[in-house]
Amino acid sequence: MMTISSLKKETKNQEIEGLPDPPYVMMSLLGYQSQLKPLVEPGIHVLQYQLIAQSENNWSIKLHAPISGIVDVVEYNGQNYIKITNDFKNERMVCVPPKLAALNNQDILRVIRDAGIVGSGGAGFPTHIKYDVADRPITHFIINGAECEPYLSADYSLMNQEENHLWKTVQVIQKLIKAKYVILAIEKQNRELKKKIEHQISQLNINIKVQLLGNDYPQGSELQLIKTVTGKIIPKGSIPAHHGVIVSNIGTIKAIANALYQGIPYTERIVTVSGEKAKTRGNFLLKIGTPIHHILEQIGQDWQPDDQQIILGGPMMGKAVTHSEESISKGTGGLLLLRHLKTEVFNCIQCGYCADVCPQKLMPMEFARHAVRGNSDGLNQFDLKSCIECGACAYVCPSDVPLMSSIITGKQLIKTKL
Ligand code: SF4
Ligand code: SF4
Repeated sequence: MMTISSLKKETKNQEIEGLPDPPYVMMSLLGYQSQLKPLVEPGIHVLQYQLIAQSENNWSIKLHAPISGIVDVVEYNGQNYIKITNDFKNERMVCVPPKLAALNNQDILRVIRDAGIVGSGGAGFPTHIKYDVADRPITHFIINGAECEPYLSADYSLMNQEENHLWKTVQVIQKLIKAKYVILAIEKQNRELKKKIEHQISQLNINIKVQLLGNDYPQGSELQLIKTVTGKIIPKGSIPAHHGVIVSNIGTIKAIANALYQGIPYTERIVTVSGEKAKTRGNFLLKIGTPIHHILEQIGQDWQPDDQQIILGGPMMGKAVTHSEESISKGTGGLLLLRHLKTEVFNCIQCGYCADVCPQKLMPMEFARHAVRGNSDGLNQFDLKSCIECGACAYVCPSDVPLMSSIITGKQLIKTKL
């Protein structure tokens, strides 16, 4: 692991702001290991919060309209989307919060499922499946409030500014999964939050331990977090619940709180907009499906891919945006505008920094060398499949070797050779 500069100062203490709603939203129909099926025909009018798509497999992942307007189903960049053109009438479904005291465990799982809640940390795993542990003993419920990627402060601003129902929701989930210990993990650099949250939970008489983590990267990645908090080492490919641990991001807790206490499905989230090329920085409450170009317009910037590198997520694990029509998803915590790096595989100077910081003890320079040659045997020999895609190697590389793109290409190459 390594310590990296946090670069959060400019956004973490700003008020969470809204932006004007976009003229349309683009809702991806790609769900966790599944393709969602539209439940609405092109041309029809939908209300805000209306169910518009769901997966046909057992995951039962659901998508709701974040705005009211006219539906279209479009293909874009090889992916299918539901596009809703905003009528700006804000006509919405009547949302009735469930009577919490009358809900049994199956009812709570159903509320979470029907609100379309998936992990807000990026992987998009359906939360009702994660919490359906039946009689499997759960010792630790860890709430991940450690946003270890530079720039990102969406989760911090959520914990700092929106105490409403967050901790009561944690208590509901603790009872649901029958967790023995509940731990909220935040980074040391945010230690000012600890006292504030401890005061809130003591007022509510809720038993949550607030644990400070080191500022090392990737402290917030699931396996690392579990090891730090519980001492347990979860074998790769194994499910944490099978080892008595469930981890949820604080943003996921907020989405559940909205469903339990307001009856509102997962249709908006807080996103950090930042980066050295961003003229306006802050944390914004955005509708899921908001196109990137709309956000850029609202902060007074143009789409200039030659001059900026635009990232959805954090600089370490985020995804480079290739078109301004790409949009905010349920797992998007950040939109970063960074300087453009000119990367070159053969610039490696064999300094070894990438291997020094790799939490998996891999040799990332070898991935670049073998991926560019299409050598899957070489990639396997250096154990590419153990890479957790944390981005630490690319961050420290002084020669801007494109390690992350090599890793992603390399993994695809291995799959095709299976
Ligand atoms: S090789 Fe993978 S696990 Fe290791 S630092 Fe790079 S991205 Fe992280
Ligand atoms: S950090 Fe970059 S330059 Fe150094 S060995 Fe790794 S890939 Fe090569």
